[in-house]
Amino acid sequence: MIQFSDLNLHPDILKAVEEKGYKTPSPIQEKAIPVVLKGSDLLAAAQTGTGKTAGFVLPILDQIAKNPTQGHRNVRALILTPTRELAAQIQQNIVDYSKYLNIKSLVVFGGVGINPQINKLKQGIDILVATPGRLLDLCQQRACRIDKLDVLVLDEADRMLDMGFIHDIKKVLKLVPEKRQTLLFSATFSKDIKDISRQFLYRPETVEVAAQNTTAERVKQVAYRCDATAKADLAHHLIEKGKWNQVLIFTRTKHGANRLSDKLDKGGISSSAIHGNKSQGARERALKGFKDKTVRVLVATDIAARGIDISDLPHVINYELPNVPADYVHRIGRTGRAGKAGDAISLVGNDERSFLKDIEKLINQKIPLLTEEGFEPGLWPARAPTVSEVMKADAERKKQNRQNRGPRNGGGRSKQPSKRRAGGSKSSSSGGSNNSNGGGGGGAGGGDSKPNNSRPSNRRSARRRGAPRRSS
Ligand code: AMP
Repeated sequence: MIQFSDLNLHPDILKAVEEKGYKTPSPIQEKAIPVVLKGSDLLAAAQTGTGKTAGFVLPILDQIAKNPTQGHRNVRALILTPTRELAAQIQQNIVDYSKYLNIKSLVVFGGVGINPQINKLKQGIDILVATPGRLLDLCQQRACRIDKLDVLVLDEADRMLDMGFIHDIKKVLKLVPEKRQTLLFSATFSKDIKDISRQFLYRPETVEVAAQNTTAERVKQVAYRCDATAKADLAHHLIEKGKWNQVLIFTRTKHGANRLSDKLDKGGISSSAIHGNKSQGARERALKGFKDKTVRVLVATDIAARGIDISDLPHVINYELPNVPADYVHRIGRTGRAGKAGDAISLVGNDERSFLKDIEKLINQKIPLLTEEGFEPGLWPARAPTVSEVMKADAERKKQNRQNRGPRNGGGRSKQPSKRRAGGSKSSSSGGSNNSNGGGGGGAGGGDSKPNNSRPSNRRSARRRGAPRRSS
């Protein structure tokens, strides 16, 4: 078995890695580090949890440590990531691994003041971790120059494309030097990812640690059939019955996340919600409480939870199934990390059966579908409804709701900024989609028509409508 000391890394990096408690390089590190060290472009298929961050950070540190900038520091390496949380985590890793080196790093993302970031950039930075929107703002304000960098990392590239960052990425690529090293990390190798790599990588070496679109090996996956309206009670029941004390729950909508979190809290299970409408401070507090186990359940939307790294996270619950099957792979990648065992539990309403099938097709695996006593679904016909039937029923339900509600704003005052409308515009500004196929819509998320599976087209149209840019 290969050791870190075999990888030809700077001794001060080896010392920091040893202090982190890492015994041997993970498979992605073993494969990626030598490629990065020799200066080749890299196309790496690796999920979060495989140790991919050290896979690119360690050799980047090595390159800078062995060839430090003389005089004023300019950005030598830029790491682009889809979300603030992931950006902050990568930065923390850089700080840990560069503990014994004279290397300066900085993380920048939106949602917080830009001036402190500008001031820090002025002092000179070697490694910059950034979300695309804020990086472009900084470049436009001439607070940041990336035209001299050596290495560009596109981390969780599939996520960035999913979140509609393709135009921002292309803009960034116009600002970096043509002669550079580019490293692209992605959980899945979709056609879009292959297109990007053909366009922007030069003769990349490909490394893959898990077969395409497979879920983490050690994750035990089960699904429970249930009525949409019984999901909150079933989640509560499973958590109590299993005595689970650290559970990440994914909901489709921000409001659904809030409602479920409140309900669990009231039912005696301490819980916080984390999503794009929460301030950065509130997100950090929620994450901290969850990490130090003062909060038992974290309820999150996909976008907010992306990249969350909590080691030993034992349980993930899909409160609603994502209608983009690849999201399932990302969600359950939060558990079973670094070879540890984990459980992924999905609550499946009748309307979501077609999503379950799509997921099984993608992961090429059958997920056992169980019935929990006391939570048997009232409606579970032999034939599962098709996606178009579900969409039709959902549209009908919404129409009915609208009719029952009657005209808004007292019937005629069109400019009144109703609370609902304010929520809606926030949703589009945060990259939420209007893709309302309504599959999971029950329980805490029931009837909420602002799911968070953002698609590029929706994001673009949100931009056209003047919605502000956001980074997660
Ligand atoms: P990542 O996929 O980069 O998000 O890493 C997932 C987790 O694995 C993080 O908590 C890392 O600190 C941890 N990790 C990374 N490399 C190793 C290693 N070689 N041995 C043990 N743990 C590691």
